[in-house]
Amino acid sequence: MSVSTEIIRLPEPVQAILSRLRDAGYSAYAVGGCVRDSLLGKTPHDWDICTAARPEEMRPLFAGWHVVETGLQHGTLTVVIDHIPYEVTAYRLDGLYTDHRHPDSVSFVRDVREDLRRRDFTVNAMAYAPEEGLIDLFGGREDLQKRLIRCVGEPEERFREDTLRILRALRFAACYDFAIEDGTAAAARAMACDVRRVAGERIRAEMTKLLCGNAAGRILRDFSGVITAVFPELAPMVGFDQHTPWHRHDVWEHTVRAVEAIAPEEALRWTMLLHDSGKPEAFFLDTEGIGHAHGHQKRSAAIAEVLFDRMHFDTRTRDRALLLIEKHDIDMRPDERLLMRQLNRYGEEAVRDLIAVHCADRKARGTELPGEADRWAEGMTAALDALLARQPCYTLASLAVNGKDLITAGFRPGPGLGQTLQALLERVMDGELTNDRETLLGAARSGLMALNDQDTN
Ligand code: ATP
Ligand code: MG
Repeated sequence: MSVSTEIIRLPEPVQAILSRLRDAGYSAYAVGGCVRDSLLGKTPHDWDICTAARPEEMRPLFAGWHVVETGLQHGTLTVVIDHIPYEVTAYRLDGLYTDHRHPDSVSFVRDVREDLRRRDFTVNAMAYAPEEGLIDLFGGREDLQKRLIRCVGEPEERFREDTLRILRALRFAACYDFAIEDGTAAAARAMACDVRRVAGERIRAEMTKLLCGNAAGRILRDFSGVITAVFPELAPMVGFDQHTPWHRHDVWEHTVRAVEAIAPEEALRWTMLLHDSGKPEAFFLDTEGIGHAHGHQKRSAAIAEVLFDRMHFDTRTRDRALLLIEKHDIDMRPDERLLMRQLNRYGEEAVRDLIAVHCADRKARGTELPGEADRWAEGMTAALDALLARQPCYTLASLAVNGKDLITAGFRPGPGLGQTLQALLERVMDGELTNDRETLLGAARSGLMALNDQDTN
């Protein structure tokens, strides 16, 4: 990897903030992720600044600027320039993370070197200011060149202070396609159980980034022990032989390949990670020695639900992934009647997701010819697009009559009305009726007649 030797180009607002602080006699630097990403030639997604000034000393310096004081107890002021927030944080030491969420206390210091020492990895512990160049006390630049994630200081000690750093190590390695230095990796493996005590939302944030990283597959493979220590529900998947001609790999290897085979989007990557988690539980061998796992989809969804709730997932992502996990194996064919039913039941977004999930699942089995699953997905998408281009009616909302219309036409209000509408929709979806008012009212009336006939018989 070529690590840029050029000076880091700071955006103007960052320069302005640094100048304000420095002109007032406080040292100040761009720090952490933005320095790392700049040296890698990537555009940083945000710029953090650290300074010797304490929050109460910073405040008057930014008088007249748009300042948000949300992180004050951690020494952070956020300066907003052109709608972009810049976090300015006083140099500090962290206390212990006894709640595994926030440090119990922070103490402010005046020396940038002490602030850099509390940071997690060498590549994240560099600071930069135009006047002084790069401050790199722990060989971060060299580790970037070697593509290595290495703890600042003694890994076990650093992981004991904050065990989330174990997942962060895996996350950075997955996102940047870096290796994890041996000592750091050994400590991560030895201490992974402790990650379970970390706040769920912190685990979710790091795990999601890990799963969406370019090298997610390699990390899930090499650190399966860490992942299953954090999520013990997934441990039975590792090395679980499926005893079936439909799968070449054990459940974990299949899972890893399925994660790699789908777009790096949170709900989709979590879906693939968990889609077969219920398989070991549902597994049995038939008399011929072939493995089956009937109903594993529901068990996988039940496991996923527990994990999502433990990590405080937002409802939308949680529900989206749970549906995909539970339905990952449904019958999907380019058959219009079937597709209409699926559109009606799950909606267009989920049907498209399910095509992607099926495709990834098939690729990960390792039993098909290359390109076969992709061709299937293209065929499915073409069939779906062609169907949707005709703007078919597959929801009650787009049916040409509603409850009011039926009442006006003489139907009695009540639950029967809903059933009639549903029956009409089904016949429209099956192509037996066209979706226009007169046809539907006519059909409803004759349906009512049929119902009345039944009553009198
Ligand atoms: P990203 O690109 O994901 O934002 P980042 O390096 O900026 O990466 P953040 O989580 O935003 O990561 O943290 C900013 C900086 O704060 C890190 O670069 C690191 O120096 C420090 N840091 C963050 N979390 C920890 C932690 N748990 N322990 C020690 N230092 C940390
Ligand atoms: Mg950041």
